[in-house]
Amino acid sequence: MMNKTELYQSVEEKASVLTELSDKIWSYAELSMLEYKSTAAYLEVLRAEGFTVQENLCGIPTAFSGSYGSGRPIIGILGEYDALSGLSQEAGAVEHKPLTEGGCGQGCGHNLLGAASLGAAIAIKEAIQAGKLQGTVVFYGCPGEEGCAGKTFMARDGMFRELDAAITWHPGDVNEVATGSNAASIQVEYTFSGIAAHAAGNPWTGRSALDAAELMNMGVQFLREHMQPKESVHYSFADAGGLSPNVVQPTAKLIYMVRGETVQKAKALLRRVDNIAKGAALMTDTTVTSRQIDGTASTVSNHVLEEVLYQNLCAAPLPEYTEDEIRFAKQLRATFDTSKLPGHRTDEDLGVRAFVAEKTQNGTLPLNRFVMPYAPSCTFSPGSTDVGDVSWLTPTAQFNAVTCPSGTPGHSWQIVTVGKSSIAYKGLTLAAKVLAGACADLMENPTLLAKAREEFTLATAEGYDCPIGKDVTPTAG
Ligand SMILES: [Zn+2]
Ligand SMILES: [Zn+2]
Repeated sequence: MMNKTELYQSVEEKASVLTELSDKIWSYAELSMLEYKSTAAYLEVLRAEGFTVQENLCGIPTAFSGSYGSGRPIIGILGEYDALSGLSQEAGAVEHKPLTEGGCGQGCGHNLLGAASLGAAIAIKEAIQAGKLQGTVVFYGCPGEEGCAGKTFMARDGMFRELDAAITWHPGDVNEVATGSNAASIQVEYTFSGIAAHAAGNPWTGRSALDAAELMNMGVQFLREHMQPKESVHYSFADAGGLSPNVVQPTAKLIYMVRGETVQKAKALLRRVDNIAKGAALMTDTTVTSRQIDGTASTVSNHVLEEVLYQNLCAAPLPEYTEDEIRFAKQLRATFDTSKLPGHRTDEDLGVRAFVAEKTQNGTLPLNRFVMPYAPSCTFSPGSTDVGDVSWLTPTAQFNAVTCPSGTPGHSWQIVTVGKSSIAYKGLTLAAKVLAGACADLMENPTLLAKAREEFTLATAEGYDCPIGKDVTPTAG
């Protein structure tokens, strides 16, 4: 059996390479599908570590992989590195302080996500190199998680199917294995075109695209009552026409996101939204075209793999935090409301809630130092992730590790400010150890992989229904 301590040591020895990489990705803060510098930084480390690199996966310039070893099993470790707009922030500041006004920031912690996944792949590579493990490890550089569901495009174009299993993680405020399912989602842009006119002089010759967009939104508000409980619809104005109110606006653009329990349900809901768009165009004598942006499938839970991740999360030493780190965490927590912290979890299980309340001293501890008990579950989470698409193609599981103070809101400047701190580095190292430990377990235990495959085959019997069409291309930004 592979000695886990050796794997942990490999991760520790590479700690400076990993944190340096994470810091670079933090400072590049590149938006979806524009992660050129980030990709170059990863490729440099992968090549230096002796991985066989494949660039431009599925024709996406910022999608890549690095593999090491030979033969089966083939275990995939997924990494992300894209940032979010409007979240530029000075590292370590305990107040909102953009580095560049309106600039981008790593508000979801993807600088840590990719670096830890790579750290695990490197530790496994070293074990294979030393003859202690057999098989192939593949690190996947998955772009555009935030903006355009990069993994869905990779899944549509044939990636991941050959894997025996895929594992990944996400930065967060609690150490826990993710279980249950996520909603499927589809994003579509609707463009209305009308005829411009002087809004007072001759409005009767004008046809307002803005009116059409407003009517579409109103139509969708009426749709909401007649949707199923696990369905949701969200929208934004990408273009409301020009700024002058005395013009009949000839163009307007809306972006809609629909979610459903499955891809089939999301597609059915989208057809109803499409009809509302057509109705709005008909009412206003304008025209409407639509373009799909992206989509994600629901997540297929794999309890066998989740259990492997859980065992490794429990086995890896949890970080100790210094007084300085605790002080920083407290200062940061003062910038957001944590009064409802224990209640923010939706666990039905009162036992789990009591456990969390006790471990966090009713939400007063600034940094969580425990592993949430794991109970395989079929719970449904209303959000979406493109890890879902991978989970339809190979047994997949994921976990969260603490990289920020408890209660830190997602997609926030607080995530950016903490992203280069020693708290974050400790979470990165923990995640790399857990992923490496789990990968080693899977490589050494064909029975585990067979059980995971059996569960996967049953759960995915209906087959992968890709939420994006054949002709849809990734949208950058
Ligand atoms: Zn995010
Ligand atoms: Zn994320």
